[in-house]
Amino acid sequence: MTELTGTGVGRGVAVGPVRRMPEPLAEPTTEPRTTPADEAEAEARAALGAVQQWLTARGAAAGGDAQEVLEAQAMMASDPALAADIVKRIGEGRSAERAVFEAFESFRVLLTSMGGYLGERAADLHDVAQRVIAHLRGVPAPGVPDSDEPFILVAHDLAPADTALLDLDIVLALVTRDGGPTSHTAILARAKSIPAVVGVAGADQLRDGDVVVADAAAGTVTLSPDPAAVDAAEQRRALWRRAATAPITDGRLADGTPVPLLANLGSPDEAAGAIALGAEGVGLFRTEFLFLSSDAAPTVEAQQAQYTALLAAFPGRKVVVRALDAGADKPLAFLTAAEEENPALGLRGLRALRAKEGVLRDQLTALALAQEATEADLWVMAPMVADAAESQYFVELARELGIRTAGVMAEVPSLALVADQVMQVADFVSIGTNDLTQYTMAADRMLGSVASYQDPWHPAVLRLIAQLGTGGAVASTPVGVCGEAAADPDLAVVLVGLGATSLSMTPAALAEVRAALLEVTLEEARERAARALTGRTAAEARALATGTQRA
Ligand code: PEP
Ligand code: MG
Repeated sequence: MTELTGTGVGRGVAVGPVRRMPEPLAEPTTEPRTTPADEAEAEARAALGAVQQWLTARGAAAGGDAQEVLEAQAMMASDPALAADIVKRIGEGRSAERAVFEAFESFRVLLTSMGGYLGERAADLHDVAQRVIAHLRGVPAPGVPDSDEPFILVAHDLAPADTALLDLDIVLALVTRDGGPTSHTAILARAKSIPAVVGVAGADQLRDGDVVVADAAAGTVTLSPDPAAVDAAEQRRALWRRAATAPITDGRLADGTPVPLLANLGSPDEAAGAIALGAEGVGLFRTEFLFLSSDAAPTVEAQQAQYTALLAAFPGRKVVVRALDAGADKPLAFLTAAEEENPALGLRGLRALRAKEGVLRDQLTALALAQEATEADLWVMAPMVADAAESQYFVELARELGIRTAGVMAEVPSLALVADQVMQVADFVSIGTNDLTQYTMAADRMLGSVASYQDPWHPAVLRLIAQLGTGGAVASTPVGVCGEAAADPDLAVVLVGLGATSLSMTPAALAEVRAALLEVTLEEARERAARALTGRTAAEARALATGTQRA
């Protein structure tokens, strides 16, 4: 047995053979054609036809949104204008591969220049071209391998489109060489409840057909596992799947202590799915996701419509909306400066909003209007807040504009260190463990090379959370957690033990967290938290809290 380590996403585990994501194809050379033109043309037409058929069949099998995407791609492969362009280029002396490459590329450039919806389809066109060229070369097409047998997908990293189209009956788990716990692959894997281990430095040594155990809870990939390890993994997989199908109840501990379980959302369209999974409200609505492609600041009316749609989905429920969190990996053209040497440490979050207060005022006004038009219990919070003075600035402005409950996110260690002062001015605090970990450990959350530092189990992060929990208890100020940490069932228990009064997460994680909370009393959660605080590393803290020796 060889054990590779990375960062686990979720609690799942899977056993199965490896299938590697094929490497991207090399660009066809410009060497003149050696086969006769009519032969090259016939080959190109056959390849286009085969790809078109494959995409159509795959779409029919997938159904739903995936079918729409795949059928649109099939239409690209059968576009007569593209075929004519390929034939023309072959006539000019190009090989079939080169002619396909150039013809698709010129259409791609054209689509990109049109922008909007058509511009977004340009990447799909590239994918079709890659498939046609792979067919001409007789090599596997790039993208998720096609298979009827379940497998564990190993890749350098996955494009969001690859992850979104995964067939969950076939792909048992994901293992990637790159990426951290808050990379797109991780977030999508969590949203789809697929076990993943990301940032596995040794992933390149895994070969097609190798049998592995991918254990997201332990963050390990075991190559050639012995029969006992396979048995243990299969048993745990069965347990994990049972948790996902247990009855939906409100979040509470074994002694009945309520711990509301809320959803992290990025669009009102996600509300129905979250409610179906038992979300008791919204703990983090990321408003910036609505406006990532806007050049100009959204109007009050446009925002009001979105917020009203969101709040209307949760009558009588708590909905925590975050003011625009622009900067670093989420630039907003109308809020953030173009160039910064260290964008994570730059003019982001509340700092950017304060520099353009008109944008913040419009957003708070739109939220107040939505609050009056609906029956939800709206709470509004600011991201990336440094201290009590900044908290006061935000809370006062929010109140001036009609918001009834205003609070701040705890993402910067400085805010946690003055938690007692913050609790005097904020109506509530919500801990963003993704950024709190990034800033406490001084490790860029987007960087695979330092992904091992991005672990909220680190005692330094837990101690800051404890300080926030204690401050909240003393001042009777609610302290929620809305970072990815709340989606880890073992850590969720510890967070409650440290004083978190609600937990918010991607809706797919609700079932496992609900099941984990039901297993402990408040006293036990506090004992586990106290043990975790004494660890010297993240792995030690986890092992101490869960009572396992395993790192
Ligand atoms: C966080 O930082 O933990 C958080 C919830 O915000 P985001 O992931 O959007 O930065
Ligand atoms: Mg954040």
